[in-house]
Amino acid sequence: MSVIIDDTCITCDACLQNCPVNAIVDDMNNPTGESRYYIRPEKCIECVGVYDDPQCAAICPSIGCITWDMPYTKEYEEHYMNNDLYAIGTSKTGKVLSPSHREKKYREDIPLEQRGVGKEVQEEPEELEVG
Ligand code: SF4
Ligand code: SF4
Repeated sequence: MSVIIDDTCITCDACLQNCPVNAIVDDMNNPTGESRYYIRPEKCIECVGVYDDPQCAAICPSIGCITWDMPYTKEYEEHYMNNDLYAIGTSKTGKVLSPSHREKKYREDIPLEQRGVGKEVQEEPEELEVG
């Protein structure tokens, strides 16, 4: 991926309405069975070429709910085969759409140390300096 939604999701639907590639599904269609919205890592492009930053995280009212994940590349194949966090879809011919099958775009300017489940995309507003 990409980005990932955690259990602080309040199912407000804002992210789903704003994803340019329809990578987000609601809680009723979350393939992992969790009662939260879910981002399909095999579809998410981190909004590369469309917006300046992940639009879902920018619009999400639950600060910290959507966090960075690893790039959806072969290097992180094993990470995305974790069935507790992801339910990677299959192609019409039945092939698992894993990173080995098709890598996705990701923000190369985001350092790897800033990535991983739980690494915030949204930042709190900077405090104004007084004086
Ligand atoms: S980062 Fe962009 S492409 Fe990925 S799920 Fe969010 S809105 Fe969709
Ligand atoms: S915008 Fe945030 S709180 Fe709303 S559905 Fe998406 S992840 Fe959940």
